[in-house]
Amino acid sequence: MQKYGGTSLATAEKVIEAARQILAARADGHEVVAVVSAMGQTTDKLLRLASAVSDRPDPAELDALLGTGEAVSAALLSLALIHRGAASRSFSGAEAGIRTDDRHGRATIEAVDPTRLRQDLGRGVIPVVTGFQGEAGVGGPRTTLGRGGSDTTGVALAAALDADHCEIVTDVAGVYTADPRTVTGARRHTTLLYEEVAELAVGGAKVLAASSVDYARIHGVALKVRSNSSLNGPQTWVGHRHRAAAVRFADASWRPAGLDEAPVIAGVATKSGLVRCVLRRITADHAFAILHALAASGIEVELRRYGNLGTEDVSDVALTLSADDVDEVRALLAEIQPRTGVEEVHWTSNLARLSVVGLGIGQRPDASLHLLGALRSVGAARTDLLVTSNRLSVLTGQGCLAAATQRVHDVFVHETPVSALAATWWADDRGRLNTPVPALTAAD
Ligand code: ADP
Ligand code: ASP
Ligand code: MG
Repeated sequence: MQKYGGTSLATAEKVIEAARQILAARADGHEVVAVVSAMGQTTDKLLRLASAVSDRPDPAELDALLGTGEAVSAALLSLALIHRGAASRSFSGAEAGIRTDDRHGRATIEAVDPTRLRQDLGRGVIPVVTGFQGEAGVGGPRTTLGRGGSDTTGVALAAALDADHCEIVTDVAGVYTADPRTVTGARRHTTLLYEEVAELAVGGAKVLAASSVDYARIHGVALKVRSNSSLNGPQTWVGHRHRAAAVRFADASWRPAGLDEAPVIAGVATKSGLVRCVLRRITADHAFAILHALAASGIEVELRRYGNLGTEDVSDVALTLSADDVDEVRALLAEIQPRTGVEEVHWTSNLARLSVVGLGIGQRPDASLHLLGALRSVGAARTDLLVTSNRLSVLTGQGCLAAATQRVHDVFVHETPVSALAATWWADDRGRLNTPVPALTAAD
């Protein structure tokens, strides 16, 4: 299974290079199924087109529109393969047997029926499948799987076809300790565990869609992340630790690590375009009603703070959400206001979340101190620190995100001695959240 991302298919030359790599893998004796994303920035362009004709695009038709991007790539790659003498056929998500629920724009794969793919493979045909899309039930409306969803298509088909592994072919040579395009000194991992990559993906590392990592972990699909520039260049393997020892790849890069050899820090990830919403002084009943309404709406909202200090009946609730969903959440809060009586709502925009991922990092007593110290040393805002076993995450201002990420990466990955950090920890504290960040007005 080889999944080619948008940047790996951005031009006709890149499509031809993808065809060459698929044929080279075939010449090495592998049966190949290709999964493709839309060329370059096509999906973004389609989204802009949709907003140009409608304020709130109909979700089903928006999915129909977005699916066209992948359809172009699949047919084009099939054409390039056929031109080079191979038999090939392009498949839509529905034709490839991808069945989803009916949540347009963020559908989940519920079943895969690979019968037609198997038939073509049996006849020596190379199937090229449009990533990112499926159909709701058999013969239902077209759906899409959420941004980056072609990764999930690749993994789901690899699982259904019992493939050796799923290659994620992209514009970087693997999974790094941070985005290698923006962070100096980011290091490529040779191997990583599903748990580590899942946390990086949830933290915002775009290289793998979070849902694809979950799917791979549940179905035991080994992932190989490699660059589109070469079939056998550097890469990162992602899998279960125990499976690692059993994997039979010719490539020696899979290192069956013992616990003591596992890297402590998997990396630093960031997610931009966030907004924080604080509902002040509400009762437990009202907080429950609001959280219930939000959950029912399906909008992705992260609850960052709940509860009081035990001294009052009322408490504060702090939520983080994508800036794209603010209008919807405002409308929802306004709609239920008569039942919840919330009067004080504070919005803060231009926020980003910075996460440090490492197995067991939440149990290291000094880790949070290092994170807060690193942010403070570059004058970055920091609030709503969350600690889980494998991830620390904190909200900061978008404006200082680049400097903050570099500093946090330097501290955690390059192991700046604690003494050096301590020197900056007490430096002038410029990192207050509300000062540099323009606030939105409260919903009425
Ligand atoms: P594709 O078009 O192949 O799906 P994406 O843009 O979705 O590619 O993902 C690849 C990008 O992910 C890289 O170009 C890189 O900028 C970004 N990225 C973010 N974090 C990481 C990381 N930890 N390791 C590698 N790449 C990362
Ligand atoms: N084309 C889709 C997107 O841009 C799916 C993908 O790239 O995986 O999100
Ligand atoms: Mg992607």
